Amino acid sequence: MLIDLTDIIKNINGKLEISETFMMPTVNFLGEDFVFDKEFKAVGTIINNSKALELSLDVSGEALVHCARCGKPIKVDIDFPVFETLVREGTEISDSDDVILYSGKQIELDDIVVSNFLMNVPVKYLCREDCKGLCPNCGVNLNEKSCHCDEIPSDPWQEKLAEIMKNMTDTE
Ligand SMILES: [Zn+2]
Ligand SMILES: [Zn+2]
Repeated sequence: MLIDLTDIIKNINGKLEISETFMMPTVNFLGEDFVFDKEFKAVGTIINNSKALELSLDVSGEALVHCARCGKPIKVDIDFPVFETLVREGTEISDSDDVILYSGKQIELDDIVVSNFLMNVPVKYLCREDCKGLCPNCGVNLNEKSCHCDEIPSDPWQEKLAEIMKNMTDTE
């Protein structure tokens, strides 16, 4: 999402309205691939406060993720704010940590939007609040089926036999 700053740079105390649609790049975060197959919307403003440009956006869209318990693909609504101070490269500033430098008359907002997304993303998504997940023993999705893993009392003799069999095949 490339924004043309030509007018707002000249317009001290002015305001530039932003209303754009754009494609979010696929993001991998904490082992989850966020796939965005539909356009996102960014609505907000850039205000020229005479020293810097203040960017404020509301970004919204949909993402395809996976349930943290059962792995089912789910569609989730994404909505997060973006607040950044944009300062032209070469401007004297007291604290460069909190600003984003731009050069020229345009700014590419994709990376800024993605980093703000990552600051707001929940650690995990669930397909539903009470998702039962997968049986750790047989792998069945416990939301759809029930298994009998809990009901079978473990048989020490069977386990011993399995161990012996395993050892035998291992040494072969
Ligand atoms: Zn689930
Ligand atoms: Zn099971």
